[in-house]
Amino acid sequence: MSEDFDILVRNGNVIDGTGNLWFKKDIGIADGRIRRVGSIPESGRKTIDAKGMVVSPGFIDLHNHSDFSILAYPNAECYITQGVTTVVVGNCGHSLAPIRNPDNLALLRNYLAPLLVSDFDYGWNWKTLGEYYEKIQQQGISLNMAPLAGQGAIRLAVKGFDSNEASREEIGEMKKLLEESLEDGAFGMSTGLIYPPGSYSSTEELIELASVLTKYGAIYATHMRHEGDRLAESLEEAIRIGEENNIAVEIAHHKAAGKANWGKVNASLRAMERARSRGVEVNCDVYPYTAGSSLINATLPTWVLEGGAAKMLERLKDEEVRQQIKKEIAEDTMKYQNMIAGSGWDGIVISECPSKREYEGKSLQTILREKNRFDEPYEGFFDWLLEIEASATMVVFQMDEDDVKTVMRSPLSSIASDSWGTAPAAGGKPHPRAYGTFPRVLGKYVREEKVLTLEEAIRKMTSLPGGKLGLESRGIIREGFWADIVVFDPDKIKDKATYADPHQYAEGIGYVIVNGQVVVENGRLTGMRPGKVLSRC
Ligand SMILES: [Zn+2]
Repeated sequence: MSEDFDILVRNGNVIDGTGNLWFKKDIGIADGRIRRVGSIPESGRKTIDAKGMVVSPGFIDLHNHSDFSILAYPNAECYITQGVTTVVVGNCGHSLAPIRNPDNLALLRNYLAPLLVSDFDYGWNWKTLGEYYEKIQQQGISLNMAPLAGQGAIRLAVKGFDSNEASREEIGEMKKLLEESLEDGAFGMSTGLIYPPGSYSSTEELIELASVLTKYGAIYATHMRHEGDRLAESLEEAIRIGEENNIAVEIAHHKAAGKANWGKVNASLRAMERARSRGVEVNCDVYPYTAGSSLINATLPTWVLEGGAAKMLERLKDEEVRQQIKKEIAEDTMKYQNMIAGSGWDGIVISECPSKREYEGKSLQTILREKNRFDEPYEGFFDWLLEIEASATMVVFQMDEDDVKTVMRSPLSSIASDSWGTAPAAGGKPHPRAYGTFPRVLGKYVREEKVLTLEEAIRKMTSLPGGKLGLESRGIIREGFWADIVVFDPDKIKDKATYADPHQYAEGIGYVIVNGQVVVENGRLTGMRPGKVLSRC
């Protein structure tokens, strides 16, 4: 009997994603799925000779923000050229749904402006999470997307940027919105507890809201309240939210931020292991860089944003407010992470500033020096924020290389990028992780520094994040599973993107296949869009 395969991948070293050592096998693909793994004598419509190459499941990026960029960049070039075939989006409490009314929409757009693609018309014609992802699916995408519901967006829809405690009734409304998102297929709920308005929620409010996740078997993914001085208490809060509701917890981009806190990841990983030993399913993810990236207004105390971004700009003009902000930052009494104290004026570099491109790639220190304002940096900083309407993203140098390796080595951690879609034409200086995360782990941390074995690194990019999310039939090379596959050269794979010159595609990726269709061939994009919006139910 002759089998009919659409694609045959021959002679590769197959690393199946479970952590198993590689084995030499052919893979036969038909109708989007892996149909056979073994020695295949038949021919296929297309044959890929993978001799000397590694054949692995496509990478699953568990922490991604491409829901902000996918309509503008439906080919997700910077991700598929890394071998990423599925992105988990709606992270850090940020999502573009639900939107209940024009007021919500205005607040959301204003606040998230720096994360949106400038000069792109989103249309803004959806209300629910289901409607938003239907729009994405209709446009067509090169990779798969698995959405989370952002708790910040849910709180915003009910309460705007009001920092007061939510009433029983309001919590009830939030639960309804979360339930609706889960019914639409969301895989879980994310929080970003340094970002208003999500940060205004008490632990009790979050426990109550997250109780909705239990019956869906959905996960709780959190950018914790503090990743610096109060890392331990913040982790405790996250674990408590999971434990009281019997839900799985994912600690996003795990790190110890700020020099004074370096080394604390050893204790936090042990705390996660202790929680697991009493039955709480907690994991974390990590990106392979010592700098993070965020909104410029995350440098300010969150009360400054009460009422929304327009209110923040008004406040920044007020002398008393300025003194109060300065005091909290300088005396390090901020309730939330103090990025200026943790990284210094020279450790914060502007990545994208659409209204004033000349600031991109410069540190706050350089910007203030050039303006002759560095002798009074706070006053200079507040004036500069007003000049750019506090709308920019930044790269923050805040981690220790040893900590990055420690988290990477932990069996609990997945590799994830924490970035969003971009393209060389977009300009700016986005964090290089948008182009380099996965090849950087395989080149620098596996081949060069031997921090991880190749098989373990691939497990952290495939079956671990896929299993955590409960993705159906993805993340392992197995007969019957979806044909999301990467073929790469383990001796050549390498990230090229740097902080100074980020818009550079990685090297060493030969083929990327999504749902049985080739999206990257000999390192080049094919322009195919076989991706699917995935749904938990
Ligand atoms: Zn985050």
